[in-house]
Amino acid sequence: MGKIQVLSKNVSDKIAAGEVVERPASVIKELLENAVDAHATTICVEIKGGGIRYMRVTDNGIGMSKEDAAKSILRHATSKIATEDDLTKIETLGFRGEALSSICAVSHLEIYTKAKTEETGTRLVAENGEIIDCTEAGCPQGTTVVVRNLFSTVPARMKFLKKDFTEAGYVEDIVARLALSHPEISVKFINNEKEVIFTPGDAALSSAVYAVYGKDIKDAMVEAEFQERGVTVSGLCGKGVAARGNRSMENFFVNGRYIKSPLLSRAAEEAYKNELMVGKFPACVLNVTLSPEEVDINVHPTKLEAKFADEKHIYHCVYWAVKNALYRSEFVPKASEHKSIKPQFERVIPPAPAPQPVIKPVQPSVTLRETGGQPKAKPIHFTQPVITQEPPAIKPQAVLHTEPIKPVEAPIPVQMPEAEQIPAIPDEKRAVYKICGQVFSTYIIVEKDGKMLMVDQHAAHERLRYEKLLLQYQAREITTQMLLSPEVITLSATDFSLFLEHQDAICDLGLLVEEFGEKQVIVRGTPADTEMGDAKGLLSELLELFSQNRKHIDDDLASKMLYRIACRGAVKANAVLNDKEMTKLLDDVFALSGINTCPHGRPIMVEFTKDFIEKQFKRIV
Ligand code: ADP
Ligand code: MG
Repeated sequence: MGKIQVLSKNVSDKIAAGEVVERPASVIKELLENAVDAHATTICVEIKGGGIRYMRVTDNGIGMSKEDAAKSILRHATSKIATEDDLTKIETLGFRGEALSSICAVSHLEIYTKAKTEETGTRLVAENGEIIDCTEAGCPQGTTVVVRNLFSTVPARMKFLKKDFTEAGYVEDIVARLALSHPEISVKFINNEKEVIFTPGDAALSSAVYAVYGKDIKDAMVEAEFQERGVTVSGLCGKGVAARGNRSMENFFVNGRYIKSPLLSRAAEEAYKNELMVGKFPACVLNVTLSPEEVDINVHPTKLEAKFADEKHIYHCVYWAVKNALYRSEFVPKASEHKSIKPQFERVIPPAPAPQPVIKPVQPSVTLRETGGQPKAKPIHFTQPVITQEPPAIKPQAVLHTEPIKPVEAPIPVQMPEAEQIPAIPDEKRAVYKICGQVFSTYIIVEKDGKMLMVDQHAAHERLRYEKLLLQYQAREITTQMLLSPEVITLSATDFSLFLEHQDAICDLGLLVEEFGEKQVIVRGTPADTEMGDAKGLLSELLELFSQNRKHIDDDLASKMLYRIACRGAVKANAVLNDKEMTKLLDDVFALSGINTCPHGRPIMVEFTKDFIEKQFKRIV
C-alpha cells in the first residue's frame, strides 16, 4: 500500500497558515494591510495579552457584503487580483488571498462588516477554518476583525511565542510602520487598554513621526526628495542626534509597503557615512515610489522583501535623496537633558575607523599605476557613480587651509569642482562669532548665533585637513614639503616589496620616497603640513594599509590613507592655541557646511543653547 496521503483541508490550512501567521504581529500586519486596501481613513488596533489572547482591528473602509464576508476566509480568495497578468502590476498591499484563511485556521475569528451599498451589516464567526455563524447584524460602515486565542489549537506554534510584552512590542512596531507609511490615515494603537500610538491622519509625515517616535526625533529630521527616471524617493532623514545603535529606525516603504531591504539600507547608510559615528545607524522614513511593474513583492509569503528590476538605479536614488537632505541641513549636536536621545557629545571612541566615502579618483577599473601616478596629472572628472558593491561618488565639501572656500549648499551629485574653481569666502560672508577661550587645551568655546559652541580642535582640524587633502588628491596635487635632510629608512623584505609595488601611489599621496639600495628607501618629502621627522611612521602606516589585502588603491583605501595623513598634521588635543590660530581654525570650520564630524565620525562641535544653560542654573525650569 502506498505511503503518500493527501492531507486533509484542516491540516493543509494550518501548514499554509504557518507561512503567513507566525505571531500576533503578523496577524496585525495582514489586518492593517486589508484596512488600507479598503481605503480606510481611520484604523484602530487594540490588543490584550500581547495579542495572543485578543486582537481587534477596526477600519472605516469600504466594508464587505455578506456574500464576500463568507468568501473572504477561503484560501486564495481575493478581490484584488483576477489573472496572472495582474501579478505584474500589483497596487494593493494584499493580493495572495490567504491572510484571513490562515488567521482563521489558527484562531477564533469574528468579522463585523458593512459595505456602503448594503442596508445591513454582517457578523461572521469562524474557527479552525470553518464558518460557525454568518448572520445579518447592525454595524457601522467598515470592518472590524476580532482574533482570539491565537494558536490555541496549534501548541507547537504557541511554544515559539515570547512573553506578552515582547509580542506587544512587535505589534507596536508593525502599527508604527503602518502609521509612518500612511500619514493620511489616522492610526490608533491600544495595548491593554492604554493608548500607545495615535496619529492625526493629517497627511504630514512629520506628524506621524512625532506620534510614533516623539518630539526629539521629529525635530532632528530633515526632508528628503529625489526623483529620476520614474523613481521618486521622499521622506525624512534623522540628523546625527537621532542615530541609533541598530537598524530599528531605518524605515523603507516601497509603493506604500514596508520592506526590509539590504539594498536600501546600504544606500542610505552609505549616504550617512561621515555624518554618523561608527556603529550608529540612521533614523529615517523613506518612501520609494515607482511603477509596480518595476518591483516584484511576490518573493516572500509575508511580502516583506522586494526585488527591483533596476537595483542600481534604486540605490542611486535612495543614496542621493539622503545625501542631498543631509548636505542641505547644517547640524550640530545639542546638549540636551532629554534621555530619549543620546547626545553625541559623549565621547565614544569608535572601535576602529570606518571606511568613509571618498570620491572615485579614477574610473573603477583603472588603477593609479595604470594612470602613471603622475603627481601633476590633469584633474580627473567623475562620471556617473558606478554602483557595484561600493558607494557612488560623493561630492566633498572642500576647505582649503589657507583660503577658506564658500560653503556649498547642496551637493552636485556627479561632478567634482576643480580646486582652482572654488572661490574664497568674501569677507562679508565670514561667520560672525566670538571666541570665549579654550578649555583643557582641547576645546574652543565660541558664542555664535545666540548659542554656545564647544569645538573639538583636533577633530575639527583633522576634518579640515582631510577635506583639503581629498580635493588635492583628486586633482593629483597633494603638496609635498621637501625635507632639509632626507631620511633613509630600512624596511623589512615584505615592506620593501610592497613599497616597490606601490611607489607611484605613495608618491600621489604627497610622500616622496625613492628606492635607495637593498631594502632601503630615502624619503625626500612629506605631505604638506604633516609633522616633520614623521616620515617613517607615515610610510609604515601606508604600507600597513597596502598589506591589509588590497593590490591597488580604491576609494576606501585612498580614504583611509588620507585620514592617516590628515590626522598626523592636525593640531592635537592638549595644545594651547593663540587667538590667531583659533580664529583661523574657526573661520574654516564655519565655512565647512554640512559636515559635522571628524573623518572617524566623532562630532566636531557640540552646541549648548541659552535655554539649556539657564536650566542648569535654574533660571528657567
Ligand atoms: P488579500 O488581502 O490578499 O486579498 P485576505 O485574506 O487578506 O486576502 O482578504 C481576502 C479578501 O477579503 C480581500 O481581498 C478583501 O476583498 C476582503 N477583505 C479583507 N479585509 C477587509 C477589510 N478590512 N475591508 C474590506 N474588505 C476586506
Ligand atoms: Mg490581505
